[in-house]
Amino acid sequence: MTSASASPPPARPAGLPALMEHYIGGRHAGSVSGATFDVADPVSNKPYATVAAGEREDVGRAVAAAQEAFTRGPWPQMKPRQRARVLNAIADGIEARAGQLAAWETFDTGLPITQARGQARRAAENFRFFADVIVAMHEDAYRVGTEQLNYVVRKPAGVAGLITPWNTPFMLESWKLAPALASGCCVVLKPAEFTPLSASLWPGILAGAGLPEGVFNMVHGYGEQAGQALVAHPGVPLISFTGETVTGQVIMATAAPHLKALSMELGGKSPVIVFADADLDQALDSAVFGVFSLNGERCTAGSRVLVEQAVYDEFAGRFAERARNVRVGPPSDPETQLGALVHPEHYERVRRYVETGRSEGARLLAGGGRPAHLPEGNYLSATVFADVTPSMRIFQEEIFGPVVALTPFGTEAEAIALANDVRYGLAAYVWTSDLARGHRVAQAIEAGMVWLNSHNVRDLRTPFGGIKASGLGTEGGEHSIGFYTQPQVIHVALEPPRTPRFGVAGER
Ligand code: NAD
Repeated sequence: MTSASASPPPARPAGLPALMEHYIGGRHAGSVSGATFDVADPVSNKPYATVAAGEREDVGRAVAAAQEAFTRGPWPQMKPRQRARVLNAIADGIEARAGQLAAWETFDTGLPITQARGQARRAAENFRFFADVIVAMHEDAYRVGTEQLNYVVRKPAGVAGLITPWNTPFMLESWKLAPALASGCCVVLKPAEFTPLSASLWPGILAGAGLPEGVFNMVHGYGEQAGQALVAHPGVPLISFTGETVTGQVIMATAAPHLKALSMELGGKSPVIVFADADLDQALDSAVFGVFSLNGERCTAGSRVLVEQAVYDEFAGRFAERARNVRVGPPSDPETQLGALVHPEHYERVRRYVETGRSEGARLLAGGGRPAHLPEGNYLSATVFADVTPSMRIFQEEIFGPVVALTPFGTEAEAIALANDVRYGLAAYVWTSDLARGHRVAQAIEAGMVWLNSHNVRDLRTPFGGIKASGLGTEGGEHSIGFYTQPQVIHVALEPPRTPRFGVAGER
């Protein structure tokens, strides 16, 4: 392993707030109970700020503010072009704060600064994209000869509850906020408790762009309290959630009595399938980046690499060599490729998986522990296990860190069976120079999204989402608008209707 820097001081960005409060009806507010919690950075693991801990009363106030803004307007009634102007101004506001956002995100999450910069760009793009979508959106009309016209309008669905995780927090918040606001909904956002910092930029960005008061509300707090209260609130008809599969199950149960609409983006254990005829250099670049970028804390990480037997040893050797050279270091250092994992609890969880891999008999080719030059902070070397079998937990379970499992396969059928032999079905990557096989294998894989001879690039128009334990519902483009709006059909008679005349004497 090479070191990005010998000394790992947590670079404290300028202007950090000492206190982060809720944002309700256009005003910052503490919790009704006065409860707070501390938040720490992942390099020093020392608290740097206090955060209001939202509970049922705070969620109630935020939902009331959102309901008031929804009924009073003008946001849900505005013309698409007017809403689009505000969305574009939000994107401008994000871009204007890109440097600050990247520095704060890096400080709070441990993401390498070079990768955090890309998050601001993507967040802004989400708003620009959905601004375009609503301006171009059409609604449908169905003509029944000359008798009837049936038309469908899409109405904003109401107050949307948005619950987000700590990996790439600001970007994922934007991925929900942009379509929800574009659709005319009012929202209550519950950011992840590990990483509330970048969310504190939203009130300034949104108000500065002209979003009316009460349309955006935010309640900080623990999932079991603030998150749970939001899901249980009868005034919130839809919940968009991104996070762990097990949390998604709890949310579904909480939402069930209210029959809420749910969009669930959950965990993954995505396979990368490398056939011997693939461009192995490109496959290697993509597979290494796919699992070690964003600290491996990425839902679509290719965390299982299935390699055809004929090239397995060579590929595994090259993979391990690259992993040993991944630069682990302070997140703020532009040389760093792998930063600090988000929180000591998560760090311990990932390290326990490394121990599990060892005890299960997988062959450790690289990493496996804390880099020697980084005695403090949540650092783990890029870790590669080879000869991982489907019965091992490190093959089956989402680790959500810089740990990859390599497994050999013999035939195409075996590759497909291995790829599908997990409960998850989020993403997959296929590498082969035989295009017919590429399409065949891609379509045989149980995953919502497959990249063929490509690393993970997003096209915002395409459906995003997983199957099996990886999620429920689809986001992206018109799918997101479909979630945040409610279709209503209006049936109009164009000729006098010929209704059977019940109750008229002599008529049947
Ligand atoms: P998490 O499930 O622990 O928390 C996510 C959010 O849910 C947080 O805001 C948390 O406070 C809240 N929450 C927790 N318990 C809750 C409850 N009972 N009711 C309501 N809200 C509750 O997830 P995490 O650890 O923050 O994020 C990592 C997970 O997210 C991984 O599994 C990863 O794969 C997944 N993820 C999926 C996607 C995707 O698009 N499929 C994208 C990013 C992350």
